[in-house]
Amino acid sequence: METLLLSDSEEQLEIAAKLIQDGEIVGIPTETVYGLGADASNEEAVRSVFAAKGRPADNPLIVHLAYFSDAEKYTRHIPKLAYRLAGHFCPGPLTIVLPKNDRIPMVTSGGLDTVGIRVPSHPVMHRIIELSGCPIAAPSANASGYPSTTTAKHVISDMDGKIAAVVDGGQSEYGVESTVIAIEDEDTVRILRPGCVTREMLLKHCGNVIIDPAILHDLAEGQKAASPGMKYKHYSPKADIIMVESSLEDFTDYVGKKGGDEVFSLIFDGDEKDFPYRHMTYGGDSLSQAHLLFQRLRELDDIGAKKVYVRAPQADGVGLAVYNRLIRAAGFEVIRI
Ligand code: AMP
Ligand code: MG
Repeated sequence: METLLLSDSEEQLEIAAKLIQDGEIVGIPTETVYGLGADASNEEAVRSVFAAKGRPADNPLIVHLAYFSDAEKYTRHIPKLAYRLAGHFCPGPLTIVLPKNDRIPMVTSGGLDTVGIRVPSHPVMHRIIELSGCPIAAPSANASGYPSTTTAKHVISDMDGKIAAVVDGGQSEYGVESTVIAIEDEDTVRILRPGCVTREMLLKHCGNVIIDPAILHDLAEGQKAASPGMKYKHYSPKADIIMVESSLEDFTDYVGKKGGDEVFSLIFDGDEKDFPYRHMTYGGDSLSQAHLLFQRLRELDDIGAKKVYVRAPQADGVGLAVYNRLIRAAGFEVIRI
């Protein structure tokens, strides 16, 4: 199959929407990362999304809608707290897990009786949902296990020949996937996956926010994941990633003793003036780290890095999302000095 590269003009978005209506897969830009969009109610189309990514069948897809009120068509019940949070954060990078109805097939929800609903703010994604008239299931547009994609070029690199088209909508603004939450009771949510809607932001609109333990820790053998994606190796480039929690001085000493031809470091903006070894930088504050992280992991593979020491980000606010992706990319290998 030849993968078409489409622009974000209205005529090209009509082509993308038609392909989705016809059961094809289209790479689409969102404000978080690029997605592999397919009609969420079409079992065949959804199966081909799992096949294109090589994604395990029990890892559910998020369903993207043009407006939060459309969630009533695909769910059995929407708690008041979900409406309240949607009022503040939709459209935007928040996914709310709700009890699904039969219009969302079990293949889409990975066998669960719930569905993650998101209302993207990216105007191109919004327009494609409107033009297609479909609920759009869209996992991140990367080969399963590999870093997510934040440009159309990354999508082509992972998916060329496997999907019908990619729409180029520029670089993703946030750069990490949405915050996924479950509603626990009338005033409590649980964060299943951290993103750019942070615990602190959610706490302004509800009494309690629980951080699921799987966000920062490896699951024990046999432990059940509240968020199935958390149990898989994830976000990993080919290079071996090692996270180092230390001061810049200790980091520099540590890396200096390691050496080797294909060893690189991923450090913060501003660190480079005191850092004499091969490196890339990935931003100074948490938002820019989120924006750059996956791009840098891909670039490190492109330049042939085999081992990468990464300065561990701050693990609060948006930094929790960055920390969560990195600790998985590192297979939980963390050095604390
Ligand atoms: P991705 O499609 O790559 O952005 O990953 C979506 C992630 O959202 C999955 O790996 C799950 O961890 C989470 N998720 C999606 N739907 C649900 C659900 N119904 N219940 C719990 N977690 C979900
Ligand atoms: Mg993903």
